[in-house]
Amino acid sequence: MKIPFVDLQAQYQAIYNEINAAISHVLKSADFILGKDVRLFEQEFSQYCGVTQGIGCSSGTSALHLALLGCKVKPGDEVITTPHTFIATTEAISQTGAKSVFSDIDKDTFTIDPKKIETAITEKTKAIIVVHLYGQCADMDPILSLAKKYNLKVIEDAAQSHGALYKGRKAGSMGDVACFSFYPGKNLGAYGDAGMVVTNDEAMAEHMRIVSNHGRKDKYEHLLEGFNYRLDTMQASILRVKLRYLDQWNDKRKKIATMYRKLLNFNGLNTPYERESNSHVYHLYVVRAKEREKFKKYLTSKGISTGIHYPIPLHLQEAYHYLGYVKGDFPVTETISQEILSLPIFPEMTTDQQEYICSMTMEFFSKNTAKFR
Ligand SMILES: *Cc1c(COP(=O)(O)O)cnc(C)c1O
Repeated sequence: MKIPFVDLQAQYQAIYNEINAAISHVLKSADFILGKDVRLFEQEFSQYCGVTQGIGCSSGTSALHLALLGCKVKPGDEVITTPHTFIATTEAISQTGAKSVFSDIDKDTFTIDPKKIETAITEKTKAIIVVHLYGQCADMDPILSLAKKYNLKVIEDAAQSHGALYKGRKAGSMGDVACFSFYPGKNLGAYGDAGMVVTNDEAMAEHMRIVSNHGRKDKYEHLLEGFNYRLDTMQASILRVKLRYLDQWNDKRKKIATMYRKLLNFNGLNTPYERESNSHVYHLYVVRAKEREKFKKYLTSKGISTGIHYPIPLHLQEAYHYLGYVKGDFPVTETISQEILSLPIFPEMTTDQQEYICSMTMEFFSKNTAKFR
């Protein structure tokens, strides 16, 4: 059996009539830039998140940059975030001229550890970017109260967590502003690059909307120099169709995760920790294995694709050498980056596929007796 990491073709097969109709409607209207579907998708998705404002973006990365600009982050400022995330989070910080300051993660959820943030705060700290990793929200309440105490903005990087809940609150509705990516493999994915920023702050939204469209007030009047960060109509029309399926797709992911938890019960393997107050939407299903490299190779030899999110912590990347961090600075991140492995999870995954993955895993762990701590 060959099992892909995600199966976007299977998803398209299930909804191609609706998708083709949406695309052909845009083609016929030739309404390609800031068209009607962009406006409608901004309304529908921000409403889905439980907030009032949405600004479509060209990617999750441009959404993050816009959000930082919306928070008035400037050169010389510092922004605290996690070293255990995709580089887009910190690229956006650098694009504003601000400096990324890392703070280690919680050992169970791998999201930023609120208890460690306070020591990273300085006079220059302007904002915290919280990443809702793998589909699970970070522990927001203590982070929000810290932010209040030090007058910091909180930006949610919800690129992996469309529809996730924290104490009943939706990912994207808790901070000052939140960023989503609709990269094709995300829980809600376009057929190309796309993203969105959402917020309840109307003034910030207005500023971000202007910045995202060349600083335009109207067609020929530019209030400032901005960017071309617009979401295109074609992608918006596709995302409007797919948004209607998001909850049912997330439910499928949760079911698969429940099954994995039941079947993957071996010495030497840990299934993901889900905080009780959270509803995890399993963008990724990340296990910990003491013999990660051997396990990964074994699955590959059995036709099972896996991933590692992420094998090299950001503070140890060559790109961030200049920040001056060294090995040992963030021990939790460094330890788990050696042990994590992302198994295939996607809504269209069949029971046969999942059982095959679990039985190959059982084969590996019955041959390998290495204990986990
Ligand atoms: C995917 C992702 C991004 C970037 O999104 P793009 O749409 O690829 O630019 C940012 N942050 C995290 C945590 C992501 O997973």
